[in-house]
Amino acid sequence: MTRLPDAPATRTCRGRFAPSPTGDLHAGSLLAAFGSWLLARAAGGEWLLRVEDLDPPREVPGAADRQLAALAAFGLHGDGPVLRQSTRGEVYQAALDRLLAQGRAFACHCSRRELAAAGGIHRACVASARRPTPAIRLRVPADACVTFDDAVQGTQRQDVAAAVGDFVLRRADGCWAYQLAVVVDDAAQGISDVVRGADLLDSTPRQILLQRALDLPTPRYTHLPLVLDTHGHKLSKSDAAQAIDPDDPLPALRAAWRALGQSPAALEGAADVPAVLLAARRAFVPGRIPRGDPARTAAIAAPHNGHFTIAQ
Ligand code: GLU
Repeated sequence: MTRLPDAPATRTCRGRFAPSPTGDLHAGSLLAAFGSWLLARAAGGEWLLRVEDLDPPREVPGAADRQLAALAAFGLHGDGPVLRQSTRGEVYQAALDRLLAQGRAFACHCSRRELAAAGGIHRACVASARRPTPAIRLRVPADACVTFDDAVQGTQRQDVAAAVGDFVLRRADGCWAYQLAVVVDDAAQGISDVVRGADLLDSTPRQILLQRALDLPTPRYTHLPLVLDTHGHKLSKSDAAQAIDPDDPLPALRAAWRALGQSPAALEGAADVPAVLLAARRAFVPGRIPRGDPARTAAIAAPHNGHFTIAQ
């Protein structure tokens, strides 16, 4: 089912969890945090935290601190300081300047409405007017096909020009795009293993193209199955009713463990968070992580309240 070997203790591994502070963590966030923590710890590696606070209009005040407090209540402590993307503008600018100087990035004055005729995909500029602050996009060559092996989802291939086109690196409103920031920061933090939800599988080929353009290493990728509500919808951080309860961490930790395909019996005797994490670390078998149903995860829609199931 999955292609993950049992991680040898000697493998150099550094994982991370990188939530956007758009609301409180939910069961899907916990699955990504716990899954990346387990993979790093099982490999004898490190695990870092990053706050992806790049998008002030979508940010919920206080959410970043609540997310970090929740992770601490779940016993998931990062090794070293938390990196906040809002402090990293100069580093992103340097990467952007390099791409601009190489002619790989360009200023784009197209509006969303003007690109709608091409399905929102940019392949050539169609702007009728210049904007005072254009967006900056990566020029994606027509033959840019990216193939990579995901440890859980298997071999993935995307024709980036056809699927996404020239994508945004800095938005017209001046915000840095997730794709650029995540690539720069995964490299800056020395991340060897990106472990996250399968909703980001589709972004990975763009990130690999950027790593190649910036001469940065490509980490190993592991996309975990999405946690869905009983209606088959992805959970949302902006839905307060779906938040995990930091005051009662054990049920959510056990549910995340089961959703990772692991044996519930392994945690049975563990009565508090440190005991659960220790037992989990010892009993974790990476090769048991389920893939989920790719068709269902690709079709995820708006979230609803309810109990959680795994996509498969
Ligand atoms: N910041 C993203 C989120 O909260 C995750 C980014 C990543 O793991 O690459 O969904």
